[in-house]
Order: sequence, then C-alpha cells, then structure tokens
Amino acid sequence: MNLNPHASPRAAKTATLPRIALVTGGGSGIGAAISQQLAENGHIVFIGDINPHASRDLAATLCAAGHEAYAVELDVSSPASIDEAFGTIGQAFGRCDILVNNAGIAKTFPFLDYPIEHWRNVFDVNVTGPMLCGQHAARLMRKQGWGRIVNIASISGLRASSGRTAYGTSKAAVVGLTRQMAIELAEYGITTNGVAPGPIDTPMTLDLHSAVARENYTRAVPAKRYGVPEEIAAVVGFLCSEQASYVNGHTVPVDGGFMAAGVLEI
Ligand code: NAP
Repeated sequence: MNLNPHASPRAAKTATLPRIALVTGGGSGIGAAISQQLAENGHIVFIGDINPHASRDLAATLCAAGHEAYAVELDVSSPASIDEAFGTIGQAFGRCDILVNNAGIAKTFPFLDYPIEHWRNVFDVNVTGPMLCGQHAARLMRKQGWGRIVNIASISGLRASSGRTAYGTSKAAVVGLTRQMAIELAEYGITTNGVAPGPIDTPMTLDLHSAVARENYTRAVPAKRYGVPEEIAAVVGFLCSEQASYVNGHTVPVDGGFMAAGVLEI
C-alpha cells in the first residue's frame, strides 16, 4: 500500500550514496573549499583543474583526512579535455551525480579598449566550458534519474562594475544558462542552480583587486568585509543535497548584502 500518494516516483533513487561529484577549477580558492565541503558531505570528489599540482595536492590532503578524492586534469576551454575528463570519471564509476561549474577567469580593461582575444578566452572558460560540462554530466545523470548542477556566477553578472566587460557579461550568461539548463533538465530529476559570490578572498582577487578596489568593495558590502571560500561552499553543499530537491533555476547571491544595498553612508 502506498501510504503517501504524493511521494515522488524518483524517491527510491535518491538514497544512493556516496555520490560522484566533479568540481571544475576545484584545486584552488572557492573550488578547493567546494571540493572539501562535498568530500565532508560524504561524496567521492573529482577535482578537475588546469593546474595539476593544485588538484593533486588537494586530493592527497582530502584522502589523508579519510575522504575519497581524485585529481583529474581539465581545461574547461577545451572540448577535447572535457571529453577526456568525463571519460575518466565514466570509466571509473559510470556515473556523475554532482557537477559544480566553478572554473572561471577574469581580467579588467576599460570597455573602449577591451581586447577581443580576452573577450573570447573569457567566454570559452566561463560560459562554453560550463555548457559543455553540463551536457556531459547531464547525460550521465539522466541515466540515474538524479543530478545536481551548480554554476558559479558572480555579483558581476547581476550588476555592472568597472572594467568587467567580458567577465560581467559572461557571468550574466551563466545566470541565463542556469535557467535554461534548469527547465530542460528538470524532467530527468536534475536541478541546476547558480551561486553568485560577492568579493571573496582567493588567489583570483589577490591578483585582480588593487588596494583601491579592495577598499571600495569593503565599503560597498554591508558586512564590511570580503567573504571566505567556505561561505560559498556551504551554500553549494546545500544546493547539491537531497534537501534542495525543489530549488531549481535560481542564482543565489552570497555577498554579505551587496545586492541588497543602496546608499550605505548618510
Ligand atoms: P581562483 O582562485 O583563480 O581559482 C580558480 C581555479 O580554476 C584555479 O585553480 C585555476 O587554475 C583554475 N582554472 C582556471 N582556468 C581553468 C580552466 N580553463 N579549466 C579548469 N580550471 C581552470 O578563482 P576563485 O576566486 O576561487 O574563483 C572561482 C570561481 O568563482 C570563478 O568562476 C570566479 O569567477 C567566481 N567568483 C569569484 C569571486 C571572488 O571574489 N573570488 C567572486 C565572484 C565569482 P590556475 O590557478 O592555474 O589559473
């Protein structure tokens, strides 16, 4: 007898643990914190990064702490490299249940001088990479009738900031891609959501943010500080969980209040 007439026919499939997760750009910064969070949540984590030292070191650290993690070389701007990485995961486990599209790059130039090569490079990494990884992962997820995809966007995709012609526009595209994937993949039990970090202390911002930019961001964020990668990872961990099963197509700012703010000093 079915005691709950509203129970989802997919409920039986949701009990499969551990899940197989891929985090792109997972060797450093926000990606490293996400890899660690997913490992701590009991998942088997593939750390896909263009920097093989970073992903190998982190995989070794996670394994030493009793988790299961693997480094996989991955350049998300290369369709061949994406094929190869998913081939490795498919051969090892035949599944990929969680994908976090985290790898991203940024440089700032004034709009009038924006170099076309950099525009193309940013779109290859920040937009085309997540789309292709999403296709590969979703084909595997569809077989299980379950999947979680999280795309790392940015507050720069929700509001314009100086110099971010390619970066900001690419992250706005990630927000749109997230909605598109969400509506087309929902029927397979796959959710797709985004997280839009505010300024976070990582190697990227150390390189990208001048002292003046850092001061301006700190003033514009109501929390009056940069975030730490673990604050992004905690939200990603939730969106990848069973509990987030009815959250789909949204991009959540994790930004110390930046998106809510207007004039802060009167
Ligand atoms: P990060 O410190 O630079 O780390 C990114 C990692 O991705 C690095 O290991 C990097 O390797 C790797 N990577 C770069 N290009 C890649 C490619 N083509 N394929 C695979 N891996 C690649 O950056 P982060 O600050 O943690 O940022 C992570 C994500 O959050 C990005 O999408 C970024 O746009 C977004 N985000 C960050 C902030 C922030 O304030 N930090 C704010 C909003 C959004 P290398 O070190 O060798 O380049």
